[in-house]
Amino acid sequence: MVQPMPARPKRPKPRAARPPDPALRSRARKILTRLAKAYPDWGPTLDFSSPLELLVATILAAQARDERINEVTRVLFTKYRGPADYAAAPKGVLEQDIKATGFFNLKAERLRVMARGLLDEFGGEVPSDMDGLTRLRGVGRKTASIVLGAAFGVPAVAVDRHVERVAQRLRVDRAGPDIEASLRAIYPKKDWIKLTWCFVLHGRRICRPTPLCPICPINDLCPYPKKTKRLPAALRSNQQELRAQAPRRRPR
Ligand code: SF4
Repeated sequence: MVQPMPARPKRPKPRAARPPDPALRSRARKILTRLAKAYPDWGPTLDFSSPLELLVATILAAQARDERINEVTRVLFTKYRGPADYAAAPKGVLEQDIKATGFFNLKAERLRVMARGLLDEFGGEVPSDMDGLTRLRGVGRKTASIVLGAAFGVPAVAVDRHVERVAQRLRVDRAGPDIEASLRAIYPKKDWIKLTWCFVLHGRRICRPTPLCPICPINDLCPYPKKTKRLPAALRSNQQELRAQAPRRRPR
């Protein structure tokens, strides 16, 4: 049986960040330039053709690989065309349709309450601002930032576990009261979307939980260049492939 969604605790208003040190800003700028060159395919890795589809895909993507989500949504989006379809989906049916994404009971409930919120408060349209998006139950700040940036082109920094890890290792996480505020303080607004995806890809491909420091493209800009001194044996033979990890999308 699906557990009722717990009421979301009110987020404290973030404190204003202090202006970051110029040396940090300069290093951060070099990091982003280098990462954008290393990952010319930066950008969303979930498939979507509308803000609603991206919102749904992002909710489904929690604790799951994007490739799996894209497989599921390829079929899902032909069946569920608008918020009313999710809101009215009978118990058990939506769950079955998203089962392959994992945690499907919780995710189905999130989709239903999100869709009801869209219908009740926004006339069925996905709002294009942070306040509106985060008013929807089942939608947190990270999901809202992804939708804002990728679906509406509104500058936003999304902090997932990869962005968090990379920012901490690079020590660009202390210019504000939290990582999002810190990155927003260090980087100009025009770079917020790019930095989100560059950090995500760097965290997925190179600066993994066990990082691949010897082939890291920003090794000389990192305070921990030897966090991993040697590549794992299985990876030593295909360094070239690892470094490039063929772009999946058109470079921009
Ligand atoms: S040098 Fe290592 S720890 Fe630093 S960013 Fe690169 S992979 Fe991560």
